[in-house]
Amino acid sequence: MPLTKEKIEYFKEKLNKRKAELEKELSVVARKNPDVKGDWEPTQADMNPMVSDRNEMADTFEEMEERAVVEDSLEEQFDLVVQALERVKKGTYGICETCGEDIDERRLEALPAAKNCVKHTKNK
Ligand SMILES: [Zn+2]
Repeated sequence: MPLTKEKIEYFKEKLNKRKAELEKELSVVARKNPDVKGDWEPTQADMNPMVSDRNEMADTFEEMEERAVVEDSLEEQFDLVVQALERVKKGTYGICETCGEDIDERRLEALPAAKNCVKHTKNK
């Protein structure tokens, strides 16, 4: 069953909410790349140039690495949400990209940014 207009509006609302949340989370660990639209770059953890202690330096590098990982996964989720909103605009939201079948509503409820049906999802 294709999604009704009301349902699509409902998921659009959800996606917009999620987008705002992700934007907030991203702004903690990253900033918008001024050169590439839609791209984020991780911000540096505060580095104290006066730190001479090796252990403290190691901690700082570890923290930077962690930030990059968090930033990556947030950015990935953010991209998926943005893409889903694009599909809402184009009128292809809720349709599997692989087979063109309608994506199960329960699946969209759990994962509003889903772009494939259960059969064609790569992971999970
Ligand atoms: Zn499919």
